[in-house]
Amino acid sequence: MLGILLNTLPTIAPVLKLLPFGIFKLARILLSSGGGLARRLFRGEAARRVMPGLALHVDVGPRDPLGAALGFMLGMTATTGGYSIPRGGAQALADAMVADLRRHGGEIRLASRVERILTEGRRAVGVRLADGTELRAARRAVLADTAAASLLLDLVERDLVPRRVVRFMEKFPQGWGTFKVDWALSSPVPWSVPEARRAAVVHAGDSLADLERFTAQVRRGELPDNPYLVVGQQTLADPTRAPAGKHTLWAYSRVPSRPAGGWQAHAEAFADRVDARIEGLAPGFRSTVLARRIVAPPDLEAMDANLVGGDLGGGSNAWHRQLFFRPLFPYFRHRMPVEGLYLCSSYAHPGAGVHGMCGYNAAHVALRDLG
Ligand SMILES: Cc1cc2nc3c(=O)[nH]c(=O)nc-3n(C[C@H](O)[C@H](O)[C@H](O)COP(=O)(O)OP(=O)(O)OC[C@H]3O[C@@H](n4cnc5c(N)ncnc54)[C@H](O)[C@@H]3O)c2cc1C
Repeated sequence: MLGILLNTLPTIAPVLKLLPFGIFKLARILLSSGGGLARRLFRGEAARRVMPGLALHVDVGPRDPLGAALGFMLGMTATTGGYSIPRGGAQALADAMVADLRRHGGEIRLASRVERILTEGRRAVGVRLADGTELRAARRAVLADTAAASLLLDLVERDLVPRRVVRFMEKFPQGWGTFKVDWALSSPVPWSVPEARRAAVVHAGDSLADLERFTAQVRRGELPDNPYLVVGQQTLADPTRAPAGKHTLWAYSRVPSRPAGGWQAHAEAFADRVDARIEGLAPGFRSTVLARRIVAPPDLEAMDANLVGGDLGGGSNAWHRQLFFRPLFPYFRHRMPVEGLYLCSSYAHPGAGVHGMCGYNAAHVALRDLG
């Protein structure tokens, strides 16, 4: 199933492997809502909330039509291969890729914003940086790790982009915002549930009804009163992340990107709500907190231009923004309307996550085009 979902579309060979019966089983899952599939598979509320909760990493609610695939896929990968945690934190992933790129003669320029994709005829031939420097890639390719709308509205000359694409990008459907809190702790979180004291990641959601309510509130532009949380307890798996004996923690909730009154007015109070949510599940948590840092949606966007409105999902992950429709049909194979230009970010198929497949697949398509 991962072959079907992660490789460059259309993924015919892995689909054929599911014939004849597997394909019907898969279709039955894909055609369900997250909540519908959970009710069909599980009797207890505790189990029913798991997969729809996983789908709330992005903007897929328990009642969304055809919404089951994402939670199912995350649940399946978590319970088969499991997930890895890079020792030293996510920076270790970037460091490893930088080292590999340099070994192959690559060069990296930091703090160099690309302002324009240079074109000749209808072909991308390089980029211009904010300081005016031009980097040429003639007879090669330009791979853009950017937001789709920023690439096609701001970086590429408008006349080269079909009007239909411009119109779509002007109203590009972003996912929800993300509100993240980082803590430094004097001791691990004293969760009431013993299993949570051993888990690298904890998801906080009370029931299917609670997750549905959360989804509805975020969609209405309200700050959720009982925020669904993804909680990372890195130091339980990797003690190098904190000074000896101390612990780190982060949690995020999905939120409206722009609540009424703006984030400045709400950030502290909402962080208190997140604290209270954890305190409720882990009495005594507050007394372990040494320091707290708030990262609201505008802060995320300021750190990384791809996180538009704090959206960590590379745009909406609703079913009609997935697979052949990501970022927009027929551009699902990374090729953009300008020859030699490829979208390789999470705005391309197969979407967000540190699986790296957006870049891997885009590189393969570009290499194939270059012969
Ligand atoms: C808080 C948070 C938690 C997450 N947790 C997880 C997790 O646990 N597991 C998981 O798998 N995924 C997680 N994700 C998602 C994952 O990090 C992303 O899906 C992934 O990093 C996307 O990779 P990318 O290469 O598309 O874009 P990014 O990693 O966003 O990189 C794009 C880079 O390009 C730069 N850029 C953009 N425009 C320009 C320009 N014009 N010129 C120059 N540079 C530009 C940006 O500043 C940025 O540095 C998380 C995301 C967030 C925000």
